[in-house]
Amino acid sequence: MNIALIAHDSKKELLVQFCIAYCGILSRHNLCATGTTGKMVAQATGLNIQRYLSGSQGGDQQISARISCNEIDLLLFFRDPLSPKPHEPNEMNLLRLCDVHNIPVATNIATAEALIHALERGDLDWRQLLNPVN
Ligand code: PGA
Repeated sequence: MNIALIAHDSKKELLVQFCIAYCGILSRHNLCATGTTGKMVAQATGLNIQRYLSGSQGGDQQISARISCNEIDLLLFFRDPLSPKPHEPNEMNLLRLCDVHNIPVATNIATAEALIHALERGDLDWRQLLNPVN
């Protein structure tokens, strides 16, 4: 499965801790991330992560493009709902595309926990049956 990771600055450490905790599961999948998020998670876990640009430089739109092409099976996007971002319209579009393409998406750690267990159980495998190229 192809998993995309994004975290706003105030949530990056939380995502790092999440990825350390679930490193064993995540290591069995293809990971990509926005620039700084990917760098921090890779440094902390040793996971192999394809890194895109920073979100503010268009990295979220690079991930959006992959979602549009049905190349992403799961998005973990740890958002900070309290501080507005200049590129927020792009992020809203990213979430919209997840809905367009029925991509499971977690915007906080509670949902991320639920989805990572679903991933481990194989509950998300139906996506691969629909999109065998992934
Ligand atoms: P970053 O981008 O991982 O490069 O910081 C994510 C964001 O938009 O905050």
